[in-house]
Amino acid sequence: MTDFDATRRLFDLPDGVVYLDGNSLGPMPKSVPERVNSVIRDEWAEMLITGWNRAGWMEMPRRVGDRVGQLIGAAPGTVVMGDTLSIKVYQALAAALQMRPDRRVILSDTGNFPSDLYMAQGLVRTLGGNHELRVVPPEDVEAAMDDDLAVLMLTEVDYRTGRRHDMPALTARAHELGALFIWDLAHSAGALPVDVTTGHADFAVGCTYKYLNSGPGGPAFIYVAPEHADVAPAPLSGWLGHEAPFAFDLDYRPGAGIDRMRVGTPPILQLAALHAALDVWTGVNMADVRARSIELSELFIAGVEASCPQLELASPRNPSRRGSQVSFRFEHGYELMQALIAEGIIGDFRAPDIMRFGFTPLYLSTDDIHRAIAVLSRILEAGTWDQPRFRTRQAVT
Ligand SMILES: *Cc1c(COP(=O)(O)O)cnc(C)c1O
Repeated sequence: MTDFDATRRLFDLPDGVVYLDGNSLGPMPKSVPERVNSVIRDEWAEMLITGWNRAGWMEMPRRVGDRVGQLIGAAPGTVVMGDTLSIKVYQALAAALQMRPDRRVILSDTGNFPSDLYMAQGLVRTLGGNHELRVVPPEDVEAAMDDDLAVLMLTEVDYRTGRRHDMPALTARAHELGALFIWDLAHSAGALPVDVTTGHADFAVGCTYKYLNSGPGGPAFIYVAPEHADVAPAPLSGWLGHEAPFAFDLDYRPGAGIDRMRVGTPPILQLAALHAALDVWTGVNMADVRARSIELSELFIAGVEASCPQLELASPRNPSRRGSQVSFRFEHGYELMQALIAEGIIGDFRAPDIMRFGFTPLYLSTDDIHRAIAVLSRILEAGTWDQPRFRTRQAVT
């Protein structure tokens, strides 16, 4: 059984804060500053350019990729780090479309994160406008798949409601129709058990600054199934995905396997932060994390529904149909969330009326949940959210 008291001690959380937003930006593991400082002082300052070889910087995207891979059921050598998730979505989609040259349809859903859809729209325009991006409600995805389907592209867990797709079942259907499936694991990696191998994902992508706690702007990951790794094209053909970057050939030749999904110079300091942050998973069993996340979220839902009748559950009631977050609708959700944050209960808000609360067992206890419920019901009862200072919309909500 995972020792969640021990994992909580690994995080640096401000006193008095209940952090329910690890689904958006994970908090800082205590080991991060020292590790990043060491890379700055002992490697960058001391080794200068020789750090690329002596400190193994060049291999870091693969080495850290293997660590992330362990959390999503990926075999060693099938995951590489780099860029942001939007870029990885574009890269996977462009590669997958090129692997299905006779087909024209990309299918996604209205629950996907807009950036994934925007990247697809941009790619469709770049390719001459002959492809069709079909976007249907989440519950209609299965019925919208047909023989024209080139690529299915879905995010497992809806960033607003927490609704979760059955990725292996949808993969089986997509494959039956001859299509490829790109899994976006932004709200899954580090949140729930994922197995890209037994689930037969063709491509998988995700970010690390959410449940993997790599810090703001931490690098994304991409997984390519072993059977595709040497045949998938490299649509973002940067020099570090070249077969021999330091041959400086004028023509691009893709590197072997997952290496071709590298693009340019890796962000070594952010990778060092992520590498340190991944140590919190040592001795952690993802099934325990899932069970505890369900326990905490069920406790929260029951408490909020009992004491805050003004709020309406926006997430699926069945926990197996949810990821690791719970959302409630409230007309003045923005103001209410600001009032909560002012009291140290930190969640976030997604327009038009969704209040999001993330459940991350590595550093949240049942006491935290009880406190969050108590503060929430007190603010609602007293109406103290209704103040001008909570109404001003900031750039990030
Ligand atoms: C968080 C998130 C993103 C963000 O993309 P970045 O390029 O890292 O800013 C994209 N897609 C999904 C599904 C997300 O949840």
